[in-house]
Amino acid sequence: MIEKCNYCGSQVICVSTKEFYGRDYGGNIWKCTSCDAYVGTHKGSKVPLGTLANKELRQLRNQAHALFDPYWRKGRMSRHGAYRKLSEFMNLPKAETHIGMFDVDKCRKLINGFADFIEKGVVNHG
Ligand SMILES: [Zn+2]
Repeated sequence: MIEKCNYCGSQVICVSTKEFYGRDYGGNIWKCTSCDAYVGTHKGSKVPLGTLANKELRQLRNQAHALFDPYWRKGRMSRHGAYRKLSEFMNLPKAETHIGMFDVDKCRKLINGFADFIEKGVVNHG
């Protein structure tokens, strides 16, 4: 479902998590055959969670999730409500409001401004 690496243009292949991590996590990984970019899939499927990410982007996506997920995981708002807020903050349609689809700039925007947006209702464009 992903044919080419969005970083280097090389071929992308789908491997099991067992093959990739040496342990079966129940999903698959789309990985570039040349560089270190990869992305996981939804459990039990080959549907990618988003676009391929290199190390920098993977770290930023992890940070973004670490900041965002507690809003709904800890019951402060519903998952649906949290994503609605995120889509409002990011100024993105809901279908594109998935951290797995975010690039570096979008991750940084979330990391730097989402908490303020929730607390104060302001979008910090800094
Ligand atoms: Zn690549």
